[in-house]
Amino acid sequence: MNQPTIFIRHIQILHHLMAKKGVVTRFGPRYGRTTREQLGKVESQYKGKQKCPHCSYTAVKRLAAGIWHCTKCDTKFTSRAYGVRKPLPIRSKTEEHADV
Ligand SMILES: [Zn+2]
Repeated sequence: MNQPTIFIRHIQILHHLMAKKGVVTRFGPRYGRTTREQLGKVESQYKGKQKCPHCSYTAVKRLAAGIWHCTKCDTKFTSRAYGVRKPLPIRSKTEEHADV
């Protein structure tokens, strides 16, 4: 294997690794790789559908910052700005008294 072939293979591996992380490409090389990767992670969270805390279907879409709407059970609720908070576990009254 000669030198240019190794170099091309190296580039192919790098492209493969970069493509995996859902990198935001609209900024080009600006703002640094880490910042773009972090943004990509957050954007994929609020642009995609989330799990509904009421009916457990993956059908919750973001209307505005902190306002979410489930298309399955038609519930509108507030949660975190960029993601849906996990619902708190349902506790019985005897469990609540046991903690105190
Ligand atoms: Zn729902």
